[in-house]
Amino acid sequence: MTRNECLKFLVLYDAGENEYSVIAHNLSDAATRRIVNDWQPHLSPGIALIALDQPHTHPTSEAEDCQPCRETVARSANITPKPKFKRRKPL
Ligand SMILES: [Zn+2]
Repeated sequence: MTRNECLKFLVLYDAGENEYSVIAHNLSDAATRRIVNDWQPHLSPGIALIALDQPHTHPTSEAEDCQPCRETVARSANITPKPKFKRRKPL
């Protein structure tokens, strides 16, 4: 991963429950597109896959255990009340 490459992480947001899960992080643009393309056709109504910019590589191997990802969601989510974090099975 080069320093200049823009990393992303992916959040699955359930508007009905107002819950989100971090499903993957440390993603290149290409990897982000691939996962979005794979998941998009299978998402239920009200479920959104959101890609957020990730300025630095995160050291946590499991994205759903990643604190910086959750903090970024908390900071950038324009949602009131703040969505709850929910664990889900990894990819
Ligand atoms: Zn992360």
